[in-house]
Amino acid sequence: MAVIYEKVALIGLGLIASSMAHAMRQRGLAGTIVGHAKSAGTRDAAMELGFCDAVFDTAAQAVDGADLVVLAVPIGAMGSIAIEIAPHLKAGATVTDVGSVKQAVIDAVAPHIPQGVHFIPGHPLAGTEHSGPRSGFATLFENRWWLLTPPEGSDPDAVTHLRNLCEGMGANVEEMDAPHHDLVLAVTSHTPHLIAYTMVGVADDLRRVTDSEVIKYSAAGFRDFTRIAASDPTMWRDVFLTNKDATLEILGRFTEELFALQRAIRKGDGAHLHAYFTRTRAIRRSIIQAGQDTDAPDFGRGGQPAQAKSEPEANA
Ligand code: NAP
Repeated sequence: MAVIYEKVALIGLGLIASSMAHAMRQRGLAGTIVGHAKSAGTRDAAMELGFCDAVFDTAAQAVDGADLVVLAVPIGAMGSIAIEIAPHLKAGATVTDVGSVKQAVIDAVAPHIPQGVHFIPGHPLAGTEHSGPRSGFATLFENRWWLLTPPEGSDPDAVTHLRNLCEGMGANVEEMDAPHHDLVLAVTSHTPHLIAYTMVGVADDLRRVTDSEVIKYSAAGFRDFTRIAASDPTMWRDVFLTNKDATLEILGRFTEELFALQRAIRKGDGAHLHAYFTRTRAIRRSIIQAGQDTDAPDFGRGGQPAQAKSEPEANA
């Protein structure tokens, strides 16, 4: 494939950034890839793994002369990085981000982007419960959505260029506005993570009563349902702090449904339970048909190496 950006600067060198670097390398989409991460350990790992041509001690140095700057850090760190890099951005460059919440990132970053630099926020709906520079892999974005939320008045050519990069990495691109993105993700990703974290917490309380049976007999339900509870605590703290309204709205609806099922169980209302599970099974099957998951046992994860586990619908 043809080079889409001559020089790409990755700020943050964890799961998403390293996967982008591997994908861009493999498909020849970037001339040079440089990066910066907070710790020397991560910067050294990026060089050792070879997915960056150069790494820098500061974000300001890394963005110098870059045609595309990707902010791939936890949401809470985006604003301070924008302030740091702003004076060093090349005229005509594009800045994007991969944060799981969009409006909060726009509020934190957009005010600092200088005139003549394009800011086009984005979010790949792809991830795993692993993090750090060693967890990335080139196929992470294949056949996954990459949502772009360009603010009104964005330069169409800059949006097309970024879209080409995302598609070049194998993703399917869709554009939407930021508040809509945040509501959709509250349903499809953020609230499910919160519920998974809660279920593990409940099981941990129970473990004190039943010894280690919860872990020993961890059957498919608990194991599959709670896999995402191993996800990075910093990332998920920031998601809930910054997508507060949408998550609270969905949690409210979830609680109402849960109470209705609780009442049906108490009253022995089998018809209600059966009708509910029939409806939700059909929805779950349509997700598989839409290509966003597999019905293979263990969701097809059994044979994959640890770092190639990809269950993007749940980790985004
Ligand atoms: P990750 O693997 O934990 O990597 C985060 C990276 O950011 C690390 O390299 C870290 O450096 C760096 N970093 C943190 N604070 C920094 C700062 N102040 N200055 C410079 N670098 C800093 O995280 P990730 O999973 O790639 O997530 C990155 C972003 O992608 C988040 O905004 C998240 O919401 C979004 N996202 C995640 C997923 C997912 O499933 N994981 C999916 C879609 C989008 P050190 O290693 O040195 O600490």
